[in-house]
Amino acid sequence: MGQSDSNGENTNPCRFVQKCPMYPQFKNEFGLRMFKLTYCESTNFPQCARYKLASQGTMPPGDLLPNGRTLARSTQ
Ligand code: SF4
Repeated sequence: MGQSDSNGENTNPCRFVQKCPMYPQFKNEFGLRMFKLTYCESTNFPQCARYKLASQGTMPPGDLLPNGRTLARSTQ
């Protein structure tokens, strides 16, 4: 399945990665990529604000970012 390097870079993506409602909100491809690398496609996904809400059964708004900010604010 995933790659298993000797570097310890074991990819363990978030289970919402296939259908995260945040993705279509992004017009800035670079910004989205940064979030994917930092949260969605890394072992840090449990720290994602969206993931925390979704795991508790609350669907987060589409513009909530993994760092707890909203998309509108971060792209001033
Ligand atoms: S933004 Fe959060 S909930 Fe959505 S796929 Fe990435 S880590 Fe998962």
